[in-house]
Amino acid sequence: RAKQGGRACFRFHQAHQDADMRQRMRLDHAMRQALASQRFRLHYQPQLDLKTGQVVGAEALIRWRDPELGEVSPGQFIPVAEESGFIIAIGDWVLEQAVRQAARWRDAGMPMPVSVNVSALQFQQADFNDRVAAVLGEHQLAGALLELELTESILVHDADEALARLSQLSQLGVRLAIDDFGTGYSSLSYLKRFPIDRLKIDRSFVKGLPADESDGAIVRAIVQLAQALAMKVIAEGVETEPQRAMLLAMGCDEFQGFLYAPALDALSFEERVRPPRSRRHRARLSLVVR
Ligand code: C2E
Ligand code: MG
Ligand code: MG
Ligand code: MG
Repeated sequence: RAKQGGRACFRFHQAHQDADMRQRMRLDHAMRQALASQRFRLHYQPQLDLKTGQVVGAEALIRWRDPELGEVSPGQFIPVAEESGFIIAIGDWVLEQAVRQAARWRDAGMPMPVSVNVSALQFQQADFNDRVAAVLGEHQLAGALLELELTESILVHDADEALARLSQLSQLGVRLAIDDFGTGYSSLSYLKRFPIDRLKIDRSFVKGLPADESDGAIVRAIVQLAQALAMKVIAEGVETEPQRAMLLAMGCDEFQGFLYAPALDALSFEERVRPPRSRRHRARLSLVVR
């Protein structure tokens, strides 16, 4: 009986895996079409200085609305792209678009550092640094206006190789951040050795603030760690005013989250961020035109 149950259970799993596999293959196929038909877009989430309230950066987040599948979230398709290797083509497109946008904002007199998420597989490509340097060169963008968001797993995979790459990027002036900090392997020795500029506190720890004491302790520890290592620290997923107030009181430098804005298309980002004076000026202009 147990044996039969086992076999049925196996068949059930097998059917599930097949369905899952077919679903992934469909998604992978649709992604390739989406890239070819220019259906991906980048949105930008403002990052703010906690003390001054000034917008100090923008995180580029990929968006995909498919005519058949509707809006597909990166949480759904990025893992599939990572598995199939298509993330390398997507990552290339994201890097190029983000650098292009950063150059546009610089040209418009609104210099804005743009952060780009980098997948492990993308970072491990032998020519990754060359790609970054080439794209910066193409758009004549200073490295300081580009930040790469890496995950902890990238750093522990081949620490010596990673250190060499990151040092080279850092010499280009490119800023380096660790995304989702606290959720991966937390070996502290690499943090000391690596030229990291910013730690991004994962949303899961921000969520419980201000009431949850464990979350509070973890966030406080990350802030202190960053301060001790002379790194900036930014909290992600800030949704409420009490969360913001507590982060400020803890000495966190910056935040991003729905409290201020979700990721916005480039135009909405500009309208949101541009100083009110020029906004009024533009309103007056359109009045004249009308
Ligand atoms: P992430 O890099 O940690 O990005 C933060 C995610 O949290 C984004 O989700 C963002 O929209 C969301 N978020 C921001 N503020 C809030 C908030 O206050 N509350 C809540 N509930 N969520 C908030 P998104 O855009 O769906 O992206 C999910 C993940 O997909 C990203 O996590 C990143 O790992 C990956 N991803 C997105 N774009 C790219 C990309 O261009 N390349 C790569 N390799 N990965 C990407
Ligand atoms: Mg990120
Ligand atoms: Mg993150
Ligand atoms: Mg996250």
